[in-house]
Amino acid sequence: MRRIRIAAALALVPVVVAACAPSGADPTAASQAAAAPATSAAAEPSPSLSATAPETSESPSARATVDADAKVIYLTFDDGPWVPYTQQILDVLAEHDATATFFVVGQMVAEHPELAKKITAAGHAIGNHTWDHSDLTTLSDDQIRWQLSKTAEAVGPAMAACMRPPYGSQNDRTKAVIKKAGYRSYLWDYWAEDWNQPPIPQFLDYLETATEDGSNILLHDGGGDRPNTVEAVRLMMPRWIKKGYTFEALPGCLTRHEG
Ligand SMILES: [Zn+2]
Repeated sequence: MRRIRIAAALALVPVVVAACAPSGADPTAASQAAAAPATSAAAEPSPSLSATAPETSESPSARATVDADAKVIYLTFDDGPWVPYTQQILDVLAEHDATATFFVVGQMVAEHPELAKKITAAGHAIGNHTWDHSDLTTLSDDQIRWQLSKTAEAVGPAMAACMRPPYGSQNDRTKAVIKKAGYRSYLWDYWAEDWNQPPIPQFLDYLETATEDGSNILLHDGGGDRPNTVEAVRLMMPRWIKKGYTFEALPGCLTRHEG
């Protein structure tokens, strides 16, 4: 049942991956795929990140292991921090006493450290989404560790012991490296295709479909224009609350990463 959204989006994958070459803003990225565009960590949305949103699901292991019987929704926001959407999402969450998980991109944290601090100051979990949104399956073990540690360094002590691999791309090797580095890895149960910024009615339909006890929902506060994400979440919160849902950080993600 939860596969529907994922299956529908798989058709997008080839385009997406082609558009999501990692940034060449650091030494690790420079040694990656030759296709990496030479983007800088400029303040405005970089082209390399603007199309990173579509995370892809490759296997049933994409399911998160959260409490499926809890009257809780786990909202997750990836690819930020980003101006102005991260702040707008924080405002919507605060209005409803909701807690969420933000899987941040390290180089964006370096650009907007004040937003990263606001995320944690508000009690949300801040998880690791790598330094430059690389596909970890294309990296060496050392490069994966670098992606994680460089991001943790940017985030500081608030770094959660949780991460989400970009594109949901993982294999046994990357999973082992991530685990050994002290992170619990989360994919998602649902997404709302918000990289396409669907019209609000359609977006709300996606979120209605994703409304289940313990649902781990993938959304984006960064990676490109996200006004409909902000608006859809703003409209959806009262509906969820009316159904009795509360909103928490993913299990274990308020635990800080050691080291
Ligand atoms: Zn992402």
